[in-house]
Amino acid sequence: MKLLKTIILIIFITLSISANAQKINVRIYSDKQIKEASFVSSFGRYKIKIGEKEISIHKADIVKLRNKADKVEVLINDSLIGSYKNICFNSQGLMNFFLISPKENGIPERRYDDNLIVSVENNHLKLINNIEIESYIAGVVQAETWGATKNVDFFKLQAICVRNYLFMNMNKHKKDNYHMCDGVHCQAYKGRANQVEVIQGAYNSKGEVIIDSAGNLIETLFHANSGGETVNSEDVWSKPFSHLVSKKDTFSVGMKAYEWEKYIRLRDWRNYFKSKGLDIKDDSIKNELINFSQKNGRKKEMLGVPLVQIRKDFSLRSTFFDCQLWGSEVRLNGRGYGHGVGMSQEGAINMCDQGYEYWQVIEFYYSGAKIKRLEIDKILNKTNQLIINEN
Ligand SMILES: [Zn+2]
Repeated sequence: MKLLKTIILIIFITLSISANAQKINVRIYSDKQIKEASFVSSFGRYKIKIGEKEISIHKADIVKLRNKADKVEVLINDSLIGSYKNICFNSQGLMNFFLISPKENGIPERRYDDNLIVSVENNHLKLINNIEIESYIAGVVQAETWGATKNVDFFKLQAICVRNYLFMNMNKHKKDNYHMCDGVHCQAYKGRANQVEVIQGAYNSKGEVIIDSAGNLIETLFHANSGGETVNSEDVWSKPFSHLVSKKDTFSVGMKAYEWEKYIRLRDWRNYFKSKGLDIKDDSIKNELINFSQKNGRKKEMLGVPLVQIRKDFSLRSTFFDCQLWGSEVRLNGRGYGHGVGMSQEGAINMCDQGYEYWQVIEFYYSGAKIKRLEIDKILNKTNQLIINEN
């Protein structure tokens, strides 16, 4: 009953814009080698299109797809249909999704919205999900957030960040003939979103992107928690951006991932800095090793060693920590989780819960940035080139 209600609500959300929806091609299971998989229609209606021929798929049909001599061999309920270079599963209804189950052990089955295009590349199946932009965005948001909230405004924010990345990187896989892969190389995408608030966030922010004062799309970096102060982008990646500058962030204070601690053997801690060329017998260095503090604000280095390097070498949650001697160990008292650049997800949730509008959150975390609504039907032209500055 709950599932039916959810599905009806999702149809309602997507119905108004489905008529002239823009679709993109996303390569799915891009880091997996699949020789055989089965397709089952989970919801809605599908037809297989092979050249000019069309075959209707019924609800309980199992369509087997396997690599055979550089073609896709198709079997429906175990009867052989034929082998083809390309086949498309085209959705017919208002809302459609399917289940894809790879035969290989350890590769999970997943559900996807809209259409599927199958071909063979290097003796393996190449699976392309042809999907409406907003449904793809919802899928990415669901893969990147951890169900910590039901606040639609927060999912709008996440959706806008994902949309910015998509539009800035639309040509990343141009040579491969699709727009995005589903790995971290592009944006992690593990199938369709099924949380209603996530889908609402994507559709309610349709066409909205974040631009700087010159009207260009911006890098919308985010992390879990800033620890109370965000970081300049150049302090992490050496490249400065005017919208990614350090600022005090009280919204992240006290949230779930705000504090952490880690104990490191004093000997290991000293040897680490010795390996960086420091004279650890020097009294002032000895003192700094156990009394380093960022209580008055974030620093970039500790004894000349970049904090981003220390974070990486000791697998720390953040670079925002103080040191304290604790028996034969050094205790690191840390704040925040992640690189600290751009939007703090927990800070954003806190702002939304306090009643701030989602555009206020964007303006807080991305200095000088504004939201712009693009004419969705003008976003892609016939050759799939992105049009942003249509004015
Ligand atoms: Zn990619």
